[in-house]
Amino acid sequence: MIDSQQLEIATPSATGPSLANEMGEQRYAELTSLLENWQQSGAKRRLAGSGSSANQTLENCLVQVRLGVASSLFVALRCKHAPTASHSLRVALGCSAWATALQMPREEREAIEVAALLHDVGKLGVPDRVLLKPGPLTNEELLLMDRYRQMTIEILTACCASPLVLSLAQNSSSWYDGSRPYSNLVGENLPLGARLIAIMDAFDAMTCGQIYRPALSHERAVQQLFEFAGKQFDPRLVRGFAEMRESDLEHLQSRMAAEWLQELESPSTSVTSGWQLSHSFADQTPLVADSLFQKKLLDNMYDAVVFLDNNLQVTLWNHGAERLTGIESTAICNRHFQPSMLEMRDEKGILFHNEECPVAHALQSGVQSLIRASIRGRSGHEVTIDAHLMPVVTAQGTVHGVTLLLHDASPEASLEERCQRLHEKAIRDPLTQVANRAEFDRVHGLFVETHTQRGLPCSLIICDIDRFKRVNDTYGHPAGDEVIKSFAQLLKSCCRSGDLVARYGGEEFVMLCADCGIATGFERAEKIRRAFAELPQPMCGGQPVSASFGITQTQPGDTPEIMLNRADRALLMAKESGRNMVVQLGAGKTDSQRDKARPWWKIWQAALTEPVLEQNLVTTVPIKVAIEKLRGFIADHAAHVHSIEDNQIVMHVQGDAGPLYRRTSDRPIALVLELAFAEERSRAEPTNNTSAAVSAPSITRTKIRVVARPRRSRDRRRADAVARARQLLSSLRSYLMAAEDYSQTDDSVFQRASHMLLPWALKKVDDR
Ligand code: GH3
Ligand code: MG
Ligand code: MG
Repeated sequence: MIDSQQLEIATPSATGPSLANEMGEQRYAELTSLLENWQQSGAKRRLAGSGSSANQTLENCLVQVRLGVASSLFVALRCKHAPTASHSLRVALGCSAWATALQMPREEREAIEVAALLHDVGKLGVPDRVLLKPGPLTNEELLLMDRYRQMTIEILTACCASPLVLSLAQNSSSWYDGSRPYSNLVGENLPLGARLIAIMDAFDAMTCGQIYRPALSHERAVQQLFEFAGKQFDPRLVRGFAEMRESDLEHLQSRMAAEWLQELESPSTSVTSGWQLSHSFADQTPLVADSLFQKKLLDNMYDAVVFLDNNLQVTLWNHGAERLTGIESTAICNRHFQPSMLEMRDEKGILFHNEECPVAHALQSGVQSLIRASIRGRSGHEVTIDAHLMPVVTAQGTVHGVTLLLHDASPEASLEERCQRLHEKAIRDPLTQVANRAEFDRVHGLFVETHTQRGLPCSLIICDIDRFKRVNDTYGHPAGDEVIKSFAQLLKSCCRSGDLVARYGGEEFVMLCADCGIATGFERAEKIRRAFAELPQPMCGGQPVSASFGITQTQPGDTPEIMLNRADRALLMAKESGRNMVVQLGAGKTDSQRDKARPWWKIWQAALTEPVLEQNLVTTVPIKVAIEKLRGFIADHAAHVHSIEDNQIVMHVQGDAGPLYRRTSDRPIALVLELAFAEERSRAEPTNNTSAAVSAPSITRTKIRVVARPRRSRDRRRADAVARARQLLSSLRSYLMAAEDYSQTDDSVFQRASHMLLPWALKKVDDR
């Protein structure tokens, strides 16, 4: 049963006469006489600076009458630790609502409200270093912290709280099963109010995050209450609480708050006439929200908005910030902002040191920035955020602080991550983890385009494991897989930055070599070939397996397809020439910029001997047919094709080393023949006066540029070389059914790539 006298003192409605009524005449008379003495000894007391214990009692009573115990203690607690005060108020309102729902008598409910408001008031006695410590407490600090329960009782006792309020405050920390007693009461014998406070206290503590303790969801918190039902909490009340929470706890809580405010406004219950709620206090809003619009906007924004002043003190922490971080505004406002408060990490997941605070940086630099970072969210898990840092600068350039906008980017980030994973999956070959063919096709196009634009060479190697079918047949498919993987691994290990290795299909791979001319590319392919041919394959009984390689370099006018076809033909040549070798097709043209504008045979000439013959031929067959005829020439003269590039071919025609020639000098001289082909189409002249030129048949001719030079420079035998060249030219004319072409044929005709020269499987490039 609640002590009415104490209640009157505890609530701010008491006046002198009513105090007399409630205290009883005798006690009132005692106090009045004390008051007289106190007034008389005023001067002495001022000098001495202290009063008797009787005087102190009177002072206490006067202060209590005028201020109300609960409110003054509550304000003191708020000054000490605002989050605790806010928590206590929520617990009090919650308990008040619950008690109302349980139809408890008004006096009992008011005692519960007072006890709940002050159940943590003992924290006034906890040193700040413990109360405000970020992170876990040491054992000694825990002991200091634990003392606050005792101090709560001491403070309430000193303030003459009623036995019921005392009992409620004391037992609100007791466990239902008696395992943590703060009195000798257990179970149902614990006061009902204390059992209510215990549950409401725990629920609020769990659902309201602090800087170093993330909030739980309401559902999770209720689940926790159920876990401790029967041990820490009254199981029946936990069930009741869960039901009430689901239905109308919040509604009841706001109703209670409204009721309290009404009491405050009512003249009969106002604290005293001298203690009205002042305007400055009543209208105090968190910060700059000087218009209702701004306040509403900030409150209702989903994103977190934080205002920080010039000292990086948090001046506004909106609902969005509370929702995102689980940190109450009251807990963080007026505190110096540091990245560690939010466990802020950069995009790579590295914690920001407090000295590297991006907010401080924005303040110093005055420059806006947008960064992707992560913080610890209200669930305790990392949340990806986009942090927009906006220094608040006047037109005169004075920086006043920073606005920090935090946007929860987890949906975007997880979508980006998923897209990235899907993309990775889409472009990788699952067996070897190198790029797949689709990715190669995409990158190859870009490669050719960018290298051509920048005038840089790029090479393409295409390679295929030799006689791989045999590997599968002999050692089994899994062994074959291992060989494929080891080949892919080797290719990858030989990549330079910017290169790309892809599995083109089966046991065939391609490698794009960035900024790499054919000579270097050839050497690299050769190195890979040797390394692979020497690599023991454990699943093939330690036997190595070989591979063949074709390589080419981008040529002017190349499309990716043309380049790939050329490399493929080089690979085919390597296979046909016995495998385990590198064949190159096409020459490097970009090694020297000066070569760019020159016809190929002039480049060749610069490096070789003087030509002994230069002649243009023309034949009235298409280039395809001319080339077919050239095959015969090559075969019959045992010519060796040195290189083929687009429409140009270089071949060596050896001197015949047969037994007919006893002396070397008697043998025909070895020549290099350089042929360039160009196809020409023209309309036939109309034969009569019809104007049907369009329907006249077209004539296709092939022009062939022939240059012959001795393989070795021997002036002594120049005449022989010329004679031999004429002999070969004459032979070539008859094979190609060509005539000498004396028309003015421009060099550029032969520079047009026809890409028609190469359908043959020509022999491997020889002795360069
Ligand atoms: P060549 O030297 O001419 O390239 O002869 P080859 O036997 O390597 O070429 P062929 O194309 O005749 O055979 C290739 C074989 O590679 C046939 C196919 O069953 C096998 N193969 C393709 N993909 C895989 C794979 O992922 N794993 C394994 N183990 N075998 C594969
Ligand atoms: Mg193969
Ligand atoms: Mg193959």
